[in-house]
Amino acid sequence: MDADVVVIGAGALGLSTALHCALAGRSVVVAERRTAGSQASRRAAGLFKSVQADELRTGLARRSITKAITFADWAGVPLPVTRTGSFLIARTPQHRDYLGQELAQSRRWGADVREASPAQVAERLGYYKVAGDDFALWCPEDVYIEEPASLIQACVAACRRFGAVVAENEPVTGITATRGRVTGVETENRPITAPVVVDAAGAWVRQVAALAGARVPVAPVRHQLLITEPTALVDPGEPIARVVDAAVYLRPARGGLMVGGFEPGPLPVDPEQQPASFTTDDVPLDLGVLRQLADQVAAEVPAAGSLPVAEHRGGLFTMSPDGRFVAGPAPELAGLWIASGCNGSGFSSSLAIGEALASWITSDSPPSGMTALSPARFGPLPDDELVSRGLWQYAHYYDPAGQPGQDPG
Ligand SMILES: Cc1cc2nc3c(=O)[nH]c(=O)nc-3n(C[C@H](O)[C@H](O)[C@H](O)COP(=O)(O)OP(=O)(O)OC[C@H]3O[C@@H](n4cnc5c(N)ncnc54)[C@H](O)[C@@H]3O)c2cc1C
Repeated sequence: MDADVVVIGAGALGLSTALHCALAGRSVVVAERRTAGSQASRRAAGLFKSVQADELRTGLARRSITKAITFADWAGVPLPVTRTGSFLIARTPQHRDYLGQELAQSRRWGADVREASPAQVAERLGYYKVAGDDFALWCPEDVYIEEPASLIQACVAACRRFGAVVAENEPVTGITATRGRVTGVETENRPITAPVVVDAAGAWVRQVAALAGARVPVAPVRHQLLITEPTALVDPGEPIARVVDAAVYLRPARGGLMVGGFEPGPLPVDPEQQPASFTTDDVPLDLGVLRQLADQVAAEVPAAGSLPVAEHRGGLFTMSPDGRFVAGPAPELAGLWIASGCNGSGFSSSLAIGEALASWITSDSPPSGMTALSPARFGPLPDDELVSRGLWQYAHYYDPAGQPGQDPG
């Protein structure tokens, strides 16, 4: 089989890259080890967040929101998107200052973000009991996708509509090359020749890149959320809330409340050190972590910790040392591309990352700012440093200010 582009992995990042390459007129095959979206992407909270720590990520996040809302127009397939907006809330002086900085810089970078008084929060957010000294930002652009599988299904349908092949249960076992250039892949079923191969294998991205002798600077780290049983305490039309000092996010879900967050002592889980059969179903879940996070907002959100749990799910983020995506050409082998380093935003940024990568692949010229995400930017880093810096990024998801050796702007 021949293609212009082979994408390894049918998660949100791989499917979006494939779809945008197909839209640009390329023949595309997506080879997926299991089924589309079955690993990290189907477990996402589905949250899109316009406020980001730098201008590039702000642009990508906002572009993705626009692309999600208009998906049917450009991809020809319906995609349900819930447009509630979100609140960012701070309860400590340090986090109030931090949100103040985010307000100023996000507005400078074009995002619609406004300070909201406690009365305005109370009016819109019934499931959160606001205190008089809470500091809040209102982010009207923010959206969520209720069931993350719907983005995957829409991308698969759109890929097929534009002629891309999405081959499930087809693990890639080798990446072939001649004279320093990619020539295709070997799957368990067949060889596929292609001058461009995109490694979008999620938590397995390093193992897949290693098939070609390439190295991807990410560390997989566990993330979990829960959804409560349906409750009258949560109106399904209410916005998303992120309590930044507690590193907790909340949104209406299936008639109940979704509660997720970022523990201070996160768990790295490297599939490379697991049996070959390892999947996201094998990631150890710990409801105690979510209970502790919910306890931190118990006074404001009684529903978070008190209601019976209808679903508890988790999976792996690919964390990079600087908290930014890892997307672009692999330095080790011409024709090999990487789409990774999700840092917890891979689902929501996938539409913009895939668009930018496809443009770079098909025009051979990087879209503005994208070289900053190059897989080559860190140089050689020992694995233990990769993991420790990834864990730091995870634990500081909502307040990356003060990052060691970095300008938080
Ligand atoms: C609980 C949870 C909540 C989250 N919430 C959000 C959120 O609200 N917003 C947000 O933006 N992000 C969120 N994320 C992160 C988001 O899910 C990820 O960033 C995103 O799904 C990553 O997509 P991906 O395509 O890189 O990975 P995946 O979806 O894991 O896809 C990679 C695919 O590659 C396949 N693969 C691996 N090896 C091979 C091989 N050898 N051959 C072929 N295929 C292979 C895998 O089977 C897999 O299907 C959340 C994650 C979790 C776990």
